[in-house]
Amino acid sequence: MTDDALALYQQVILEHYRRPRNVGPLADGAEHATGDNPICGDRITVYVRVSGGFVTDATFEGTGCAICIASASLMTGIVQGRTIDEIDGLIERVHDLVSAAPGAPVGDVGTAAALAGVRQFPVRARCALLPWQTLRAAAHQGGTVVSTE
Ligand code: ZN
Repeated sequence: MTDDALALYQQVILEHYRRPRNVGPLADGAEHATGDNPICGDRITVYVRVSGGFVTDATFEGTGCAICIASASLMTGIVQGRTIDEIDGLIERVHDLVSAAPGAPVGDVGTAAALAGVRQFPVRARCALLPWQTLRAAAHQGGTVVSTE
């Protein structure tokens, strides 16, 4: 990864942290789950509406560090209109993305590629992954609490 790419990724993260998208609860028939990352103090709730196997809406609310909030903001935009199967694959690729060595190639994860900057700081991988783990819990078993511990 070049310094230019890293700088761009940091810019995207900061922009989504300052102005997060898709914030707030979903009412009426939406599933939700809460994710907790005690190491950092991130705690978010992800809401997801699934219709005919597709995610038609996804939002989040809560508190967290820049990486957690930016990841949730990026994620809720990316998953809309995708099937649960597609999202499960995406979550695996995001996991690989943030766990990879700093120079490794970036997989097909859309705008979540900005999370590649987290590779420089392995302890922050939990912050980046929390929204995705929470989304998976909401989509598959709404109402649960997941923890990075
Ligand atoms: Zn965090």
